[in-house]
Amino acid sequence: MHEVEEKGLQFYRFDHMADCTDLSHAVFTRLGGASAPPFDSLNVTFGLGDNPNDVHLNRRRILQTIGGGAMVFLHQVHGNRIIVVDGQSSTNGVEASRPAADALITSAPGLLLTIQVADCQPILLYDHRRQIVANVHAGWRGSLSDILGRTVAVMVAECDCRPADILAGIGPSLGPCCAEFRNYRTEIPKSFWAYKDDRDHFDFWAVSVDQLCAAGLRRENIEVSRTCTRCAANRFFSYRADKTTGRFAAVIGLNP
Ligand SMILES: [Zn+2]
Repeated sequence: MHEVEEKGLQFYRFDHMADCTDLSHAVFTRLGGASAPPFDSLNVTFGLGDNPNDVHLNRRRILQTIGGGAMVFLHQVHGNRIIVVDGQSSTNGVEASRPAADALITSAPGLLLTIQVADCQPILLYDHRRQIVANVHAGWRGSLSDILGRTVAVMVAECDCRPADILAGIGPSLGPCCAEFRNYRTEIPKSFWAYKDDRDHFDFWAVSVDQLCAAGLRRENIEVSRTCTRCAANRFFSYRADKTTGRFAAVIGLNP
């Protein structure tokens, strides 16, 4: 992942996707937006207590920076529902509808699939052969239900993708340095305890890599940002660091 600055906004791109000319993608920081504390400043999520006008401004700023016809949002619910969107699903700019789900897939150029996070993992997927993109929201509950493996399975079943063609980028999120689960015995199944260290910290980045490899992706096609949002809470929103805070955006879309 490397830093980019365009039109006054700082964001990050995955190294292995940066040269894909058919693709636009970015992981934005919390910097460069209009929102006041504690949502300072590039918060993209309504309903957290932020001024809705500022959220509108922030979304518009992102769309202007990256380009594309419309941002597509979800009402993220830590489930494992996956939605395939087409060009007709959402064509009303930054005010797209918000179905309850946690992953988006599309083959339609111009749609900017958007995941909003503050510690959960945003995971971008791109099949360069079939020209399919996906964006996945994986909190720890999503990881337990293998939303990543399920998303790849839908890409294969409905979009004719081959897992070996898919590039994956795992964005900034709560790292093993900070992902302490004191109640892991009741919250997390034993099959995941191998990802725990002796301080009861879990490595959900490693869980995601393993789930993607189990779904058929090549390890060399998976890039992990290895940026912990809580450790870097001055650059990214972190729920664990600040509780009342904003959400930053990870976006991916096919160029029109
Ligand atoms: Zn950390």
